[in-house]
Amino acid sequence: MSKLIDTYGRAHRNLRVSLTDRCSLRCTYCMPHDFAAWIPNDDLLTTNELLTIIEVAVSQGIDEVRLTGGEPLLRPDIVEIVGRIAGIPNAPRLTLTTNGLRLEELAQPLANAGLNRINVSLDTLDRERFKKLTYRDRFDDVIAGLHAAKAAGLFPIKVNSVLLQGVNDDEAPALLEWALENEYSLRFIEQMPLDAGGIWDRATMVSADQIFAELSTRYALTPVDGRGSSPAEEFFINGTQATVGIIGSVTRPFCGACDRLRLTSDGQLRSCLFSNEEVDVRKVLRDDSRDDASKRNEITARFQKTVISKLPGHGINDPSFIAPVRPMSAIGG
Ligand code: SAM
Ligand code: SF4
Repeated sequence: MSKLIDTYGRAHRNLRVSLTDRCSLRCTYCMPHDFAAWIPNDDLLTTNELLTIIEVAVSQGIDEVRLTGGEPLLRPDIVEIVGRIAGIPNAPRLTLTTNGLRLEELAQPLANAGLNRINVSLDTLDRERFKKLTYRDRFDDVIAGLHAAKAAGLFPIKVNSVLLQGVNDDEAPALLEWALENEYSLRFIEQMPLDAGGIWDRATMVSADQIFAELSTRYALTPVDGRGSSPAEEFFINGTQATVGIIGSVTRPFCGACDRLRLTSDGQLRSCLFSNEEVDVRKVLRDDSRDDASKRNEITARFQKTVISKLPGHGINDPSFIAPVRPMSAIGG
């Protein structure tokens, strides 16, 4: 049972943990190619600090942890981190979101260490477009990583795609065909105003309705009932059990059922991707005047504080909306 219940009655069971803000790609909708405002190394949580926070979270009813970033597979001790989380009593379900570049070598060790599932991001099937979109010529590595995830049995393998007008917005049906052929579960994500370069523009954003219309030119989509707290609206494809998801974060917000909290790689708790408030838990962990029990009690209190301050919605569509100071890569997507 979750003890993390906010003032709107939402119970929180899912913690997204950013392991680093560094990345091996430069997806244009996420960070500029010359981005350099990295979190200082000394501010990044150590693996022991991370484990303490996750243990406290689990004691408060968190039952799913998603490791993300930045690029989580850049963390040199990623396999150890997964193994240690999987070894916590009442271990949470453990998933990871990655750009896939290091997955070929890491998929099997991660599965062996206790990773339950994986999300891989891929926005195009065209190598040249991939290069243009990410500023790196690494398309083949992502494909190899996806094959390795399959061989390691990390099912269901979810693939996340962001469509950008004039760049890859003609690829929705082709991406779905490819995903069906390879038994990946595809989800399109609306571009959100969370990039470090501030390029997001509502006028050019490819909306959930547009994605649905584009897919419907080739596929018959029927809604799947029982969405729960999932950000994705799922649709059955051509009357089969295969599904595709559309995450309409901007035009079809799903805040009413949100069960997610976030921990940044420098130890700040957030109640929402779009929040402008953070609660510092790193400071508690590094307070030498406290013993371990006192640190855990205070971190528990700070989880409660984070949850209580959660707003009913992200407010992107309010005229007064102010985008968060920190980009997605620093918060953890
Ligand atoms: N580096 C990993 C990856 O790309 O999967 C994990 C972190 S990334 C921030 C997590 C997800 O956020 C990816 O699927 C990415 O496509 C998505 N993302 C990043 N910036 C976004 C934006 N501005 N709008 C929507 N999705 C975004
Ligand atoms: Fe890196 Fe993921 Fe952002 Fe792309 S979306 S730049 S892979 S953090």
